[in-house]
Amino acid sequence: MTLEKILRQRLDERRRDGLYRQIKTLAAAPTPLVTVDGREMLAFSSNDYLGLAIHPEVIAAQKAGAELGAGATASHLVNGHFQVHQQLQQSLAEVTGREAALVFSSGYMANVGTLCALLGRADNIISDKLNHASLIDGARLCGANSLRFPHGDLDGLHRQLQRAARRGGNTLVAVDGVYSMDGDLAPLAEIAGLCRDYGAWLLVDEAHGFGVMGSAQLPLAGSSAAAGLDQSQVPVIMGTLGKAAGNAGAFVAGSSALIDYLVQFARPYIYTTGMPPAVAAGSIAAVERMRSEPELARRLQENIAHFRQRAAQLNLPLAGSSTAIQPLLLGCEKTVMSVSAKLECRGFLVGAIRPPTVPVGTARLRITLSAAHSHDQINALLDELVSVLQENAVVRS
Ligand SMILES: *Cc1c(COP(=O)(O)O)cnc(C)c1O
Repeated sequence: MTLEKILRQRLDERRRDGLYRQIKTLAAAPTPLVTVDGREMLAFSSNDYLGLAIHPEVIAAQKAGAELGAGATASHLVNGHFQVHQQLQQSLAEVTGREAALVFSSGYMANVGTLCALLGRADNIISDKLNHASLIDGARLCGANSLRFPHGDLDGLHRQLQRAARRGGNTLVAVDGVYSMDGDLAPLAEIAGLCRDYGAWLLVDEAHGFGVMGSAQLPLAGSSAAAGLDQSQVPVIMGTLGKAAGNAGAFVAGSSALIDYLVQFARPYIYTTGMPPAVAAGSIAAVERMRSEPELARRLQENIAHFRQRAAQLNLPLAGSSTAIQPLLLGCEKTVMSVSAKLECRGFLVGAIRPPTVPVGTARLRITLSAAHSHDQINALLDELVSVLQENAVVRS
């Protein structure tokens, strides 16, 4: 069969299954107002939790960073590592309470690169079943014995740690601190306790925790700090700069030895062009804003509380999330697509999440909140949601 024919067949199958994905073209980042195909809409779908993608000081710093060169012109190890990268790494190490940090071009590359550098065939990797795709792909690519446990299930994790111990080799447990499609938190204190008992290494993906949660001493460090865990308990943390920092890229933070080791062995760090200096400069400014404007995180928390309170009053099918990610589980792909299309017609952009991103039968709307939303905007979304869900007979009137 010709390539074209096979591609068309497979695409038709996707459409038939209601799984076909379409790209939306935006004029600019949501403020949270956004123009899509010439129409103004209100977005509840971005990961810019603190509004830093549109912060004037961050944008000014990024423009100034572009004066250092439009691109890094080589990989970090050749000549693509500038002072701004070094400063960003220093600042990330400080706010995460780690000895050192290393920037990557994306969180996907950071996860794949770290797992493949740390683990080989003789080792074991244990993952929560709902881990982000980049951790799943890293677990496959690293070639280690891959074990999984049901989402958040400590007994399941315990059994896999026993299996790994019987097999021998080093064991790494990888979890998302905040689950990207559910918004719930991993039970990190208990997971870290089990890792200690079995001598396993713990990697926490802080993509959705960095910048928006932490401890009293390290308010930006993420979910591991919020759970009271330090570098000795969570030796490897990965954070992204594309979510709360509103920018692009990612980092791994940990001991100086870990960072030195990744520079030597993480192939997605070594064999790719360095982060553009403007992105590093903008990210430095974003972290600086996080530090000096704690009201941004406070406003986000207020918006989450307001959203949940009103959604509960309206009997919407809320999940247990306490974070900026607020999924409404609708179950069936077609319902999710119909509800999100109607919301779009009425000017609201929300994520419509279907398998294979989430397990079959758990299709959902993924509503994300930001410090930039007003209570009126949140109320408007919820009122519209109620009316659309009634039309689809998801909730009773
Ligand atoms: C977004 C995300 C990543 C990937 O980060 P990018 O910088 O977007 O590649 C990794 N892990 C989790 C949990 C994420 O949500």
